[in-house]
Amino acid sequence: MTLLSSLLDLLFPPKCPFCGRVLDTSGICDACRRELPWTEGDEALRRLSGGLRCAAPLRYEGLAKAGLHRFKFQGMSSAAGPLGELVARCAAEQLSGEFDTVTWVPVSAKRLRQRGYDQARLLAERACALWDTAPVRLLDKTVHNPAQSGLKEGSARRDNVRGVYRAADPDGTRGRRILLVDDICTTGATLAECARVLREAGAADVVCAAAALTPLRAEKAAPDAKKG
Ligand SMILES: [Zn+2]
Repeated sequence: MTLLSSLLDLLFPPKCPFCGRVLDTSGICDACRRELPWTEGDEALRRLSGGLRCAAPLRYEGLAKAGLHRFKFQGMSSAAGPLGELVARCAAEQLSGEFDTVTWVPVSAKRLRQRGYDQARLLAERACALWDTAPVRLLDKTVHNPAQSGLKEGSARRDNVRGVYRAADPDGTRGRRILLVDDICTTGATLAECARVLREAGAADVVCAAAALTPLRAEKAAPDAKKG
């Protein structure tokens, strides 16, 4: 450990992203590992409308929801480490051999200024670090649209994201089989729109991975789900 990282650990000790407990090393505490709402069996790979598939290690409820809130809304960017590792493992299990390029669902420039980081990019970077590669920016979010969380109807969520993303790198997209990373998959409207833009730019295929999926049974009654 370098002096700088020792000092940083004193000032900002690693915490479990799910319960907030201070840990000796960065990661997930044993109690949370046992109690997290892991997706099981077929649940870990959801088929969204249009046949797009999304792998996710967690159901968006309970401890998983608390951890993703810390990560996304309470400035805990360090949660990207453990969360990104979960995304990497699940994507490798569910979608191995199906992608050659990794990208992410970007936030708008305005949101980036407010939050200070792009949470899906951090997840993609962490997952890629484990695979000895790096994610590529293939999408820009050009419109700062209202948060998907305020919209419950599937059609309203689809309309809200239509046209807000654009291909950032058509040359890097053409012919590629892309893994698209996001933090939470609720109805899949955001992922579907991003996949449409990537395909239009010439992507050969698009598959998705997120840290958590909204449980299907709770989808209609989830007023605080934060993402399409
Ligand atoms: Zn914990």
